[in-house]
Amino acid sequence: MATLEIRDLHVTVDAAANEPPKEILHGVDLTIRAGETHAIMGPNGSGKSTLAYALAGHPKYTITSGSVLLDGEDVLEMSVDERARAGLFLAMQYPVEVPGVSVSNFLRSAVTAVRGEAPKLREFSKDLKAGMDALSIDPAFAQRNLNEGFSGGEKKRHEILQLELLKPKFAVLDETDSGLDVDALRVVSEGINRFRERGDTGVLLITHYTRILRYVKPDFVHVFAAGKIVEEGGPELADKLEAEGYESYVKASA
Ligand code: ADP
Ligand code: MG
Ligand code: MG
Repeated sequence: MATLEIRDLHVTVDAAANEPPKEILHGVDLTIRAGETHAIMGPNGSGKSTLAYALAGHPKYTITSGSVLLDGEDVLEMSVDERARAGLFLAMQYPVEVPGVSVSNFLRSAVTAVRGEAPKLREFSKDLKAGMDALSIDPAFAQRNLNEGFSGGEKKRHEILQLELLKPKFAVLDETDSGLDVDALRVVSEGINRFRERGDTGVLLITHYTRILRYVKPDFVHVFAAGKIVEEGGPELADKLEAEGYESYVKASA
């Protein structure tokens, strides 16, 4: 059974050139097993995206101590491509606009990178079409330039489309619900649920809001405040946050 283990992770971010790096994550412990969905919830600025960037290997974020293991393999030693080949999906791996690279070409290269060989064009086109249909994405989208002028909703659908095509073991989804209207939220949530229904997959869903958790039911909820997990529970914790907000956690960790 696949396991993603984050152990006592401390992360600093490069600050301005004349300032020392600032520690943002102060020791995060989290284990996700295949078949589980974990939600990380917390106020703005609590370090949720920093965790996602650190897992993705973003160059601005430095892991000063702790470890991340995927089935016992050291993720932090892996290149971005190696992380993807190992079965880790981090949407923010490829957030950039790439002039002249279409969505379709980008996705085919991504599938090639993960599999170690190029998918047959017919097979890929069929999978791409099925994925786009399932997410109610206009066929013309495949020929758009990657990330160029994407709306918030298009970015998120593209993220889930990658998930459908790359078939990773673990998906880390950061604010997948932000900027979505109700219909898009439903379509995106259904995509995440299809991924979960494969059964041998794990999801880390990072969000500020509880509303996506009405569609994607987490097994575990972790509350982030000031760079740490300050509370953990089951889905009922999301209901408590919805009713009471983060204020008590922010005060306690200040
Ligand atoms: P969240 O995703 O929970 O809103 P972030 O991880 O984005 O929180 O930010 C946590 C803290 O780290 C904030 O104080 C933010 O200003 C700081 N931070 C994050 N990334 C950077 C960066 N690239 N440069 C400077 N500060 C950063
Ligand atoms: Mg520590
Ligand atoms: Mg964030």
